[in-house]
Amino acid sequence: MPNVLRFFVFPAVLVSALISCAVPTDRPRLVLYVSIDQLRGDYFERYQSEFTGGFRRLVTAGVNFTNADLNYAASETGPGHATLGTGAYPATSGIVSNEWIDPRTRREVYCVEDSTAEPVEGYGGGFSARNLLVTGLGDWLKASSPKSKVFSLSPKDRGAILMGGKHPDGAFWYDRKAGRFVTSTYYTRRLPSYVRSLDVSEWIEKNVPPSWEKLMPESVYARYGPDEMGGEAKWQDDSSFPHPFDQENIKEQIRTSPYVDVLLLDLAREVINAEELGQRDVTDLLCISLSGCDYVGHAFGPNSHEVLDYLLRIDQALGAFLDDVERRVGKDAVLVVMSADHAVQMLPEYAKTIGNERSRRIIFRRDLQPKIAALAAASRKELGLLESPVQQNAFLNYEAAARVGIDSVTLEQSVKRSLLTIDGIEDVYFRRDMTSRENVSSYLDKYQRSYYAPRGKDFYVRFCEDCLITSSPTGSTHGSPYRYDTHVAMVFWGAGLQSKTVTREVHTVDVAPTIAKLLGITYPSTVDGIPLPEVTN
Ligand SMILES: [Zn+2]
Repeated sequence: MPNVLRFFVFPAVLVSALISCAVPTDRPRLVLYVSIDQLRGDYFERYQSEFTGGFRRLVTAGVNFTNADLNYAASETGPGHATLGTGAYPATSGIVSNEWIDPRTRREVYCVEDSTAEPVEGYGGGFSARNLLVTGLGDWLKASSPKSKVFSLSPKDRGAILMGGKHPDGAFWYDRKAGRFVTSTYYTRRLPSYVRSLDVSEWIEKNVPPSWEKLMPESVYARYGPDEMGGEAKWQDDSSFPHPFDQENIKEQIRTSPYVDVLLLDLAREVINAEELGQRDVTDLLCISLSGCDYVGHAFGPNSHEVLDYLLRIDQALGAFLDDVERRVGKDAVLVVMSADHAVQMLPEYAKTIGNERSRRIIFRRDLQPKIAALAAASRKELGLLESPVQQNAFLNYEAAARVGIDSVTLEQSVKRSLLTIDGIEDVYFRRDMTSRENVSSYLDKYQRSYYAPRGKDFYVRFCEDCLITSSPTGSTHGSPYRYDTHVAMVFWGAGLQSKTVTREVHTVDVAPTIAKLLGITYPSTVDGIPLPEVTN
């Protein structure tokens, strides 16, 4: 090679080497996977102009899916977090509800109970991911990159456990009796010192004022309706601001306030610092499930000043948290994914005042149970059975029917005919419907995606839309297949993603495989979702 050419070639190699060093890897070093329990899909839009912190940053600079849905009927916390964590529907993950009845033993099973695990520094039983039948994002990450660390945190045990997959490096939740974050022997025998040293009493003293008061001027809240509305639960004596904390009971009471999640974000800071998450040459995953939104929404409903104040405070707390994380981990090194386990229904008393005439509260024990019992008794007589055909917890007495020569289809048809005469009951599905591929309506398919036979009931009742089925004369709840319970927020932010608003329908099962694809890791065939091209392309 002529000397003159050598002169040009050598520097070119050097330059390209320098460039490849200077270009940051396009894989984030830290994935913050945030679930906000009960974060409805309409909150970002409704309160957009009020947000200045973390929510604003995510929504304006991220990929915001405005039409994200669970696409299954079991709109509860356990199934919701399992779905986010694993990309599998409840039918696949086995987490079909918060509690189910084992059809063989008829014993109630809590979704994260584990008789083989002991609490570590907490009270009560041991909790773990043992009942989760599939692996999650954290497991896939660790399989492809063994040095990666995975942690999962929440005020709720099921929030932390089910998002974290089968074998994270740690899962911590808040034990309100112990007044600290705890874990179980499934994960470790010793609470890490950085978790143990977070003294919740001290933290409360420093960070929680005597009363939960409004963060912003009254005029901000007044734009969205009254503070006091029919159907709200009482804090102490009434249901409007300010809400004084009962100092005797404050470790429990902060759960129904924004402060429990401000506390959780402080724990998240400790975990990031102590475990050096995002500060090594691999990708780490931190799952954070905030629970205050759910407790506040249950008590005061989604249109309340309390939920708005919760969101305003978490908007600020998240903004400060993201600033801290970016300072430590580096800009563009963090991917934030935020979604929710389920949404929530409006308080029927309030819904009526804004024109939803059909909205009503149905108290199960008072309004439905006696009617169901009466019909079951009539049905027993009509069929000539010795025992009631309908048993507790939605099981049917097929054996009693068989003894008098009545087959299962005849029994089911009789029960269904009876139940459909009850005001408030729209449809009834049986096990055979759950596995049927014929005449699958858009509701039945949502129940099918929530059905796993060994944890299933003999029949499922779909109640009327806008009917709040509850055990309480106040407050709201979720758990139906209707959009007010299944439409949730979903946003991806950071790691070089361009701002985008996506209006097509997507599902929460899609989130875990989307993150996996972004990270370049493979996922198993138990995943029901598909990566979202608006994020991965
Ligand atoms: Zn929940």
